[in-house]
Amino acid sequence: MKKVKKSLETRCAQALGWIEKETSSLVPSIYPSTTFIRNSDLSYNDGRAYTRADNPTYDQASALIAELEGGKSAQLFSSGMAAVVAVFQTLKAGDHLVLPQNVYCGTRTWVEKYASSWGIEYDIIENNDYKILEKIVKKNNTKLVWIETPSNPELRITDIGRVVDIAKSVDALVVADNTLATPVLTKPIEYGVDITLHSATKYLNGHGDALIGALVSKDENNTWQKIKEIAHDGGALPGPVETWLLLRGMRTLYIRMNKICKNAEIVANFLNQHPQISKVFFPGLPTSDGYEVATKQMNGLYGGILSIRVKGGYKKAVEVQAKVNIFKRATSFGTIESLIEHRASYEGPRSNIPDDLLRLSIGIENSKDLISDLKQALE
Ligand SMILES: *Cc1c(COP(=O)(O)O)cnc(C)c1O
Repeated sequence: MKKVKKSLETRCAQALGWIEKETSSLVPSIYPSTTFIRNSDLSYNDGRAYTRADNPTYDQASALIAELEGGKSAQLFSSGMAAVVAVFQTLKAGDHLVLPQNVYCGTRTWVEKYASSWGIEYDIIENNDYKILEKIVKKNNTKLVWIETPSNPELRITDIGRVVDIAKSVDALVVADNTLATPVLTKPIEYGVDITLHSATKYLNGHGDALIGALVSKDENNTWQKIKEIAHDGGALPGPVETWLLLRGMRTLYIRMNKICKNAEIVANFLNQHPQISKVFFPGLPTSDGYEVATKQMNGLYGGILSIRVKGGYKKAVEVQAKVNIFKRATSFGTIESLIEHRASYEGPRSNIPDDLLRLSIGIENSKDLISDLKQALE
């Protein structure tokens, strides 16, 4: 039998092709056990003692995420936010952090609520203002520069390589929240990013049935060791069932992302010509600010999320989301069914999102159905 080189797409579909030794099963087992037998000489088989340190269900899902992102190692968390906070917890009092203004609201809220009381200094800057970034990063002080591209919910596109160059000039770590792009579109580690972050609750799981997060590291450096300790010591780890659902979901990641992104382009082009819409945020429109960078950085696709501003303000936007019937009114994104959300009211008083904005997460349905639904809702 001759070995054939497998593409990442094939490796993903086969979940790395692992076969369980004990059972020969192609689909791995779920290991709910929280504790593992200790030998009479006080050793542990496979080094596993207790699930907060390690559970066998984590192995395959972690290995697949690490390989998809082109990293050395992955750590799973109980949610995307637990992964976000684990990164911030590597900072010490006096360290400086830079965050873009348009970013997942939970990330910004965490920084605004807790960073100061922990002694962490921070600046929140315009997403693509590289000049400001150059000016505010400080040698010996700026430890972390945060990227989220495309950003949520304005779909701003950041030139990852440019941010990495600026951050590296002061030896700051770069973390990229890659939840929206997924490694099918962008692998931030290829651009020099140190750590990639996922709310795996979204596209990686893909079916809206598991809350889970992940970090992937380019190197197994000191910060990464610290993150592994934070995961173990804090215990914000996923359950084995969620982890299993994540692995199951990831097997169809490529086919889902391809269909979702193609659908999103079709819907974006329809909405962009609709007289009731004042603006479409979608990096795949040649008129959008991020188009050029997105084209070189997103593997020929533009993501599955778009936001629209509806003419007539808050009242009209609420009317439109009330009238859909194929789109589901729900928060979150990255599921197989299409979702629509009035974002400002979901984010609440801390939101900086205009109140005529609706965010659409495009699914794998027939694009003609999606357009018909939006057409009747906008009438
Ligand atoms: C949802 C989301 C998070 C938070 O993840 P949870 O799994 O909900 O905790 C972080 N970043 C982005 C971009 C997200 O969309």
